[in-house]
Amino acid sequence: MTVPPYLHTIPVPTPFSVGPVNVYLAEGSLLTLVDTGPRFDPARQSLADGLAALGYQPSDLQQIILTHAHSDHWGLAAELAAASGARVLTHPMNAAEMAGNVVERESRTAFYAAVAQEAGVPPAVIAQIEQSRQGFGQFTQPLQTEGTLVEGTMLLLGDEAWQVLYTPGHTRGLICLYHPRRRVLLSSDHLLADISSNPVIEPPERKGNARPRPLLDYVASLQRVAQLPVDIALPGHGPPVTNPRELIARRIAFHQERAQHILEALREETRTIYEISLLLFPSLDPINRFLAISEIIGHLEWLEVQGKARSEMQGPLRIWKKV
Ligand SMILES: [Zn+2]
Repeated sequence: MTVPPYLHTIPVPTPFSVGPVNVYLAEGSLLTLVDTGPRFDPARQSLADGLAALGYQPSDLQQIILTHAHSDHWGLAAELAAASGARVLTHPMNAAEMAGNVVERESRTAFYAAVAQEAGVPPAVIAQIEQSRQGFGQFTQPLQTEGTLVEGTMLLLGDEAWQVLYTPGHTRGLICLYHPRRRVLLSSDHLLADISSNPVIEPPERKGNARPRPLLDYVASLQRVAQLPVDIALPGHGPPVTNPRELIARRIAFHQERAQHILEALREETRTIYEISLLLFPSLDPINRFLAISEIIGHLEWLEVQGKARSEMQGPLRIWKKV
């Protein structure tokens, strides 16, 4: 089956290099928006225009589903909820970050600083990364969600039951929405046609727990989706994915290849993650340096579970070696 007639894609601009984000409107007895776009004037305007073209305005919304806690996907949710009274639903894992909880924010800052320090990132670069990370705050607004979307939750889109899939990896709280009979998946940033999703390192949900290993989670979530009958995936950015299984195989092969490059970088001598990131990507702005480091951590952890790499602490630094 194809995309249901009640489901509409509204591309909304973002100030980020990823380009526009896809917001989905589902018509039916509960007018529902899946993701919102960032809190950014051009996004606000084009969402309003997209809704108007379908005969609606923001105040008509009754339900807002947020797929994950990246500002390009949820930044406008608070003002849309205030204008419409819509209830906002997401995975409970996203709730504290979206609420702008101070403890959560400070523990994230401390977590990223500790990760960067252990990776050998110089203090000046850590400060720049933190400054860029904080800059993303302007594209969101704190929001109280009703965090009830977990694996297996059924929810109504267009008066049909859709199933929530919990697919961590790109972020620890990412959900996809699945319609088994129609074989349609709203894949958010889990599966994008033109871009390889970056699994981003995040602190554990509860202090004291082990932190998630994003690439391992991401690959497991991809393998899971590859098992499902899906004819078309409607992603968070870019065009629909019409060959999900083939694309998933390509994505996993890409990460294997990247992991192999990192293994080659380790061959000569032991290295910190920052050194590896400079070898692979000599010049990056602070936020992309952070994303590169995050990705390399993912690949090294993947190599570690395969028995190909290991690490040890030398003073404040974690040093990686080829096995
Ligand atoms: Zn994202």
